[in-house]
Amino acid sequence: SNLVVCFGEMLIDFIPTVGGVSLAEAPAFEKAPGGAPANVAVCISKLGGSSAFIGKVGEDEFGRMLADILKKHNVDNSGLRFDHDARTALAFVTLTAEGEREFVFFRNPSADMLLRESELDIELIKKATIFHYGSISLIDEPCRSTQLAAMDIAKRSGSILSYDPNLRLPLWPSEDAARSGIMSVWNLADIIKISEDEISFLIGADDLNDDEVVLKRLFHPNLKLLLVTEGSAGCRYYTKEFKGRVNSIKVKAVDTTGAGDAFTGGILKCLASDGDLYQDEKRLREAIFFANVCAALTVTGKGGIPALPTQDAVQRTITEVTA
Ligand code: ATP
Repeated sequence: SNLVVCFGEMLIDFIPTVGGVSLAEAPAFEKAPGGAPANVAVCISKLGGSSAFIGKVGEDEFGRMLADILKKHNVDNSGLRFDHDARTALAFVTLTAEGEREFVFFRNPSADMLLRESELDIELIKKATIFHYGSISLIDEPCRSTQLAAMDIAKRSGSILSYDPNLRLPLWPSEDAARSGIMSVWNLADIIKISEDEISFLIGADDLNDDEVVLKRLFHPNLKLLLVTEGSAGCRYYTKEFKGRVNSIKVKAVDTTGAGDAFTGGILKCLASDGDLYQDEKRLREAIFFANVCAALTVTGKGGIPALPTQDAVQRTITEVTA
């Protein structure tokens, strides 16, 4: 059924109502649904694909709101659990005038960190054509063990494992813990999407553009596809057979929130219906271009989920720019 099951955190971002201020200076905050794996699930559904989300929120108004957002976007939320004690995670996020991202997280612990293995919907995981996850859910127990168990179930039932390391350094106890935590599941993934910033954190800034170094340090024998997103420049790709770059399209950037998740949603939507496309460079490049357009359109709107494009919008844009 081409189902993509996304595992991990779903939370509420609080974003200043005015841009370019520090969290301390912000006069007021707007709430916005967030959490990378949840964004990816919504993106796939908006693109006309089939997706489900597995995670945990609090049994509170925010948790119910997030469950409704999934449902409203046609994402299967039957694997979402509600914690009776811990609250839905909150994150206050700002991009300061200096371009620095500032975060304050409310996770002491939050519900997403408390998903237990016994709460997993095993049948749902077994149905996944693609099982997608990040690294934030690997930081704390019991969620970490739950994720490893879910990955194992998915792998055994023949799902493609898709990993977005999605570095959130302030959530890890230390830089070394982040590096080793992110790398601890590296060799299990079939597909990895990573940004340039994350590569420089993992393997060092100098080596960023050296294909040899990237391949030597980050490609593992079972990896089918490594994607390196480069912001407005587009995306680099590496498979066992070939490597290259696909440019993004020129857009007026309003808010880059969710660009990476829209890219992931776009590529997974394509892979869910054509699981071997990475073996054919032409089909791979088309899928990456589709994902680039998906992400570029997201950048033209405010917020993460609200700015995700529909299949029609992506197709229309592709027709326009390739005409
Ligand atoms: P974020 O954390 O903001 O979601 P990211 O750092 O994970 O993003 P980026 O490499 O910034 O990921 O962007 C992901 C993809 O989005 C790029 O590969 C590209 O396709 C698209 N993109 C991002 N910014 C732009 C832009 N200004 N113009 C066109 N495309 C863009």
